[in-house]
Amino acid sequence: MAENRLQGGCQGSVIHRAGWVIVDPWTIFPNGYVRVEDGSIREIGQGTPTGGDEIRDYGDGVIFPALVNAHTHLELCALKGRIATHKGFGFWVRDLIEKRSLLDPNALLEASEIGIREILATGCGAVGEISSLGLTLEPLQKSGLAGVWFRESLGDRISNTEKWESQPGNLQKSLAGHAPHTTAPKVLAELKNWARVQNAPFSIHLAESDEEISFLTTAEGPWKDFLLSRGIDTKSWGLPVGSPVRHLHAIGILDNRTILVHVLHADQPDMNIIHESGAHVCLCPRSNDALHRRLPDLDRMIKTGVNLCLGTDSLASVSSLSMIDEMAFVSKSFPMAAPERIFQMATLGGATALGLDNQMGTLVPGKLARLAYLDIQASMGSQVVEALVNFNEPDETACTLPFQSGPRTVLQ
Ligand SMILES: [Zn+2]
Repeated sequence: MAENRLQGGCQGSVIHRAGWVIVDPWTIFPNGYVRVEDGSIREIGQGTPTGGDEIRDYGDGVIFPALVNAHTHLELCALKGRIATHKGFGFWVRDLIEKRSLLDPNALLEASEIGIREILATGCGAVGEISSLGLTLEPLQKSGLAGVWFRESLGDRISNTEKWESQPGNLQKSLAGHAPHTTAPKVLAELKNWARVQNAPFSIHLAESDEEISFLTTAEGPWKDFLLSRGIDTKSWGLPVGSPVRHLHAIGILDNRTILVHVLHADQPDMNIIHESGAHVCLCPRSNDALHRRLPDLDRMIKTGVNLCLGTDSLASVSSLSMIDEMAFVSKSFPMAAPERIFQMATLGGATALGLDNQMGTLVPGKLARLAYLDIQASMGSQVVEALVNFNEPDETACTLPFQSGPRTVLQ
């Protein structure tokens, strides 16, 4: 226990209390409360709070900082369960493109709104949303979720020709490049430069598939033919290169405002380059397992000291957008990773990558009051984070129940 009170009381506030409060993964308050005023945290304490207009008692479980899902594709929610993930990555990509093209934008939009409700119901307060069709900005703005809405470009030209401007705030607009094996280096450099000028985060998939590695390091193969079939000529891309990481480093994409998503193929020199650049790595292990039967080298990433965050990726490759599910999968897949470290990735790690670390990621006075509650059982503080990270959802539809029965993500 670090201390039992982080700041003095105040009037006109709402007090949220529960059996436990996670201030950060290593600071747990038993019988804790969070005092909120004007949408911000004013005080974290334990015991009986004094003053305040209203006390909301959620029960014996845990109040924790809202989770951060640093990588989503809400435009793909309509494809849930409709794309085969076991026939190889190339098949999955083609199947996804074809099936998405058959769906009306309104159907994609409606499904994305259901996805947003799932995100809110499972304790998440911020997202890094990748939008390739430009459909999801409005529903996200309406939802109250914080984070970054990335307009993604792919191929050899920038898809978004409208005048683009980043808008600082709880939901920031920015740009993303799809990946180095799908997007021309000059396009990636231009997108990144725009984001850099606006001091906005930039996101890109990196080192995900065998197809990507093979194409970038040989400049030949089926992926080249696939791109040609879509009218994309890669002769001027400067390939082959040593590795996807070295390629992005050489064209100036890596810095502390860049989020690298997946990074399944990276040796130690690659990891050192990422670390020295300050770039963040977003892991989507459930998606990686489904599409590639491969997981990132988490141990190497932690030892190298890279800032790590977690994302669910899309419902075209995973069965839920729940970060509770993602943490449980990481915990099961990497038994050597401390639960506190996994929880840090799902909270402050994501907030840092999205540029929200002064507003979210931990429960400290002055940050936004983005809280969540889960009805865990714990008798000691040392069990709380472990119980939360390993929360066992009996089945897919039950995942929202603990939130329905009491508090859910609190957006104020
Ligand atoms: Zn993705």
